[in-house]
Amino acid sequence: MSLAGKTAIVTGSTSGIGLGIAKELARAGASVVLNSFTDSGEDHATARAVADEHGVAARYVSADMSDPEACRALVERAGACDILVNNAGIQHVARIEEFPPAKWDAIIAINLSSAFHTTAAALPGMKAAGWGRVLNISSAHGLTASPYKAAYVAAKHGIVGLTKTTALEVAGQGITANAICPGYVLTPIVESQIPDQMKTHNMDRETVIKEVMLARQPSGEFATTEQVGGTAVFLCSDAAAQITGTTISVDGGWTAL
Ligand code: NAD
Repeated sequence: MSLAGKTAIVTGSTSGIGLGIAKELARAGASVVLNSFTDSGEDHATARAVADEHGVAARYVSADMSDPEACRALVERAGACDILVNNAGIQHVARIEEFPPAKWDAIIAINLSSAFHTTAAALPGMKAAGWGRVLNISSAHGLTASPYKAAYVAAKHGIVGLTKTTALEVAGQGITANAICPGYVLTPIVESQIPDQMKTHNMDRETVIKEVMLARQPSGEFATTEQVGGTAVFLCSDAAAQITGTTISVDGGWTAL
């Protein structure tokens, strides 16, 4: 499978799943645009490392995915966008009554609305090229719920709806739109939840991982960023050209329960 000649934008891709996806797309030959909102030397170095490792063009473009204009500008600044991966995401865990409204707004903006804006900016180029792939990183929480994650679950369900609508609007034009729904992947966003969960459940780290986090993941194992990246590469392949408007779970059986 070669993605040579294709340019991929991966939002929120200086760590975790986004970086894993960017690396697998680069391994398949795509030029990649990495993004976060921090614009640090480390961010640019991460892009250079991807370029060096895979012999493709890779660069870092800073853009804050909570800002609609910045989302659209990211696509413009990338210069081309054959593959759009909407991955940027944040989390906050609290009961609905105590959920800070500003956190709700930020999660909806970054985890859901950003994908609307980038997709709107990317589709004209994909239509002109007669080929495109929109990959939205949803979650097992796009298909099921957990308590205390109201904004995240709402955003991740919302992105599944956006995916279906996108697919219908571009059907028959060589463009597909799908949502990848990972279960637990041990990345910084998950790592940051462990102390809270330890406090809530009065458990040590290993017990929280085994009995709380992976309790719903029948495989008993975290999914890896490489596995999510490999799924993204598959969805870009010719074999996946008729897979559109759907979800693909990488969750160790979570949503089969
Ligand atoms: P992460 O914290 O490692 O990565 C999140 C990325 O988003 C980072 O690169 C961060 O810089 C970026 N980001 C955050 N706010 C941003 C903003 N305003 N503008 C631009 N970039 C921003 O987390 P991750 O686990 O790799 O999560 C990536 C995606 O995968 C998220 O959408 C998350 O909801 C989803 N997901 C993660 C898991 C998991 O278990 N880790 C499971 C299912 C879905």
